[in-house]
Amino acid sequence: MSADTHPSQNTGTAAVPTIQRLDEAVVNRIAAGEIIHRPANALKELIENSLDAKSTSIQISVKDGGLKLLQIQDNGHGIKVEDMSIVCERFTTSKLRSFDDLSSMSTYGFRGEALASISHVAHVTITTKTKDSNCAFKASYSDGVIIPAKPGATAEPKPCAGNNGTQISAEDLFYNVPTRRKALKNPTEEYNRILDIVNRYAIHNEGVSFTCRKIGSNTPDVHTTTASAVLDNIRQIYGSSVANELLSLEQSYPIYSLKIKGWISNANYSVKKFAFLLFINHRSVDSPAIRKAIESVYAGYLPKNTHPWVYLSLEMDSKNVDVNVHPTKREVHFINEEEIIAKICDAIQDRLGDANVSRNFLTQTLLPQVSAKSRTEETSSKKTAPKIYEYDQVRTDSRAQTLDSFLITRSSGGSHGRMVSPANGSGSLEQGSLSSTTARSKKPRIEVKLTSILQLRDEIRKQGHPILTPIFANHTFVGILDNQRGLIQNELALYLINYEAVSEELFYQICLRDFSNFGFIRLSTPAPIKDMVLMALDDEQELMEKSEWPEELKPKEEIAETVRSTLVSRKEMLREYFSICITDTGELSAIPMMIKGYIPNLEKLPDFLWRLGSEINWAAEKSCFQTLSREIAIFYSTQPERVEDPLEEVDSEGENMDGNRKSLQELQDAQFQHMVSTLIFPAFKKQFIPPKALIEKSGVVVQVAQVKDLYKVFERC
Ligand code: ADP
Ligand code: MG
Repeated sequence: MSADTHPSQNTGTAAVPTIQRLDEAVVNRIAAGEIIHRPANALKELIENSLDAKSTSIQISVKDGGLKLLQIQDNGHGIKVEDMSIVCERFTTSKLRSFDDLSSMSTYGFRGEALASISHVAHVTITTKTKDSNCAFKASYSDGVIIPAKPGATAEPKPCAGNNGTQISAEDLFYNVPTRRKALKNPTEEYNRILDIVNRYAIHNEGVSFTCRKIGSNTPDVHTTTASAVLDNIRQIYGSSVANELLSLEQSYPIYSLKIKGWISNANYSVKKFAFLLFINHRSVDSPAIRKAIESVYAGYLPKNTHPWVYLSLEMDSKNVDVNVHPTKREVHFINEEEIIAKICDAIQDRLGDANVSRNFLTQTLLPQVSAKSRTEETSSKKTAPKIYEYDQVRTDSRAQTLDSFLITRSSGGSHGRMVSPANGSGSLEQGSLSSTTARSKKPRIEVKLTSILQLRDEIRKQGHPILTPIFANHTFVGILDNQRGLIQNELALYLINYEAVSEELFYQICLRDFSNFGFIRLSTPAPIKDMVLMALDDEQELMEKSEWPEELKPKEEIAETVRSTLVSRKEMLREYFSICITDTGELSAIPMMIKGYIPNLEKLPDFLWRLGSEINWAAEKSCFQTLSREIAIFYSTQPERVEDPLEEVDSEGENMDGNRKSLQELQDAQFQHMVSTLIFPAFKKQFIPPKALIEKSGVVVQVAQVKDLYKVFERC
């Protein structure tokens, strides 16, 4: 009890207070205050009533955080006019017939007390129409009973116009409980709690449209449609940045008559505050025990002090849910709590483990003649070699052929430099191929604490383009235009994206984001760095249009050797942070897996190695990581491969040859564009922050049309 109910304490005398029987209305008001602590509690009850009435549309309007007005309109079955006089009395409910029902009904508290409680602390008006009735009826309530709308009028429900369904308004909440009202003096805070409740129910109830708005505002703060599924609702409410990172969860455990469903964030996603939406038997509740257990599962995956986003819906036998919990607390307990929580954790763990595979590639060659060797290498280099399941092995077939061709030969002087068809045969380097396999492992993500990396990540965030970031995150991919450009749509606008340029930024960001956490793309035949650099230098010479390497420059041999030894001396760092593996003798044996399934154009490899040896500032940590990431990004940015003409020098052949070449080129372009649309554009949706600087370059992102306008064009046809 608060001090002001003990006047005797203030007087300091020993007067014994007289015990007085409280007025029944006061008792009810106190009881109501216990149940309805704040507007959001009242709203939760009202929403549940609307859902119980089988509504598919629930519209909520709020004034002053619900303190002035809380109104909910549904399209449910309505209330019969003959019941209207008693709906607000305590213990009146249409949902419970006998005492036996009590144990099987769910439980969180009210059993016909919600409306009664609200009417004790607010002015309640109900307008309702059942579909059998010709008109709606309206009635007012106070302290649990129906009252005349105006003094002198009758209390009978008044016929009026109205749609099927029920509208309930609660005005001046706590008008008669001044202490409560004073405690709730911040309408913004109350409104946020209201939104939180609406969000939860909107997500949980697919097939029901929810709207919540402040009175006087035209745009609702929440709006979901009847057509949207749970994930759509999540996207609508929490945005794509959350929705894109979610894994679905669905498991049932008949022995506990338990069903688990939900959407949980993956191991790459984390937030400052744990977002936990828990429903048990379709009621929004909280369970600190479940909350804690889930956090501990994620602790194995997420950086310290960050948290997941989790929506869980549990269905269990309502007999098992503990009723002895205070109604306002929203907290529940249930029978077999520990076992059930363990099952929930297993289900989440399994899902995170699965998804984590994409983070932890180990790649291995699939070539029969070398596979045994590289497999043992892999095994010996890892103490606990993860088991590789057959179905996890992915051969990147479509690419293998062209990648092979890269490592096969080195041109002795064709105009395009390095590549000649295998048929040519001369000057062949070793046969090579490249493939990737995934290995199952639950290696936790390494948390990066290096200030330099954190700073670089921060710079990416700061330099992000505020308008384009959500456009990229929420876009719908429309199609590829050519080898550089593709179209995306966001809301009603179409954008032409130079994906070659944008992908460089993407890979730069992935470099910093996944720093220390890349998988490997293993080259089954390691590429000798020195030879690669020599190739790059040959190209350079060609570009300079010189027949001899310029005297004033260091000899090619010397440059190539410097690059080789520089990279060998940095190999530990390159491997640990960037998954770039270099052998002691100076061969490149693996490059990072940046996007599952994506393999960069290896024609760029010689240049990449040369630049690694010449463009990196190895002395300063931050600048080293930045320049390295930039070089990797340049290497990984999309670029179609050239189809080399085996008979280029014999240029005299006619149409036929040309025709063949063209179709080969077309095939290759089609492969390239398919890869861009299935790997690169989806990656633009994930955590990508388009930098302002890039966008300011002309032609990188161009808004080409408003779809609205296009529709207009189409309509005319
Ligand atoms: P309970 O939901 O536990 O039955 P309430 O006090 O919340 O108790 O509601 C009392 C009764 O009023 C309900 O049993 C139902 O018959 C009726 N009712 C309340 N809200 C609605 C609504 N939106 N649509 C139809 N009937 C409703
Ligand atoms: Mg109810």
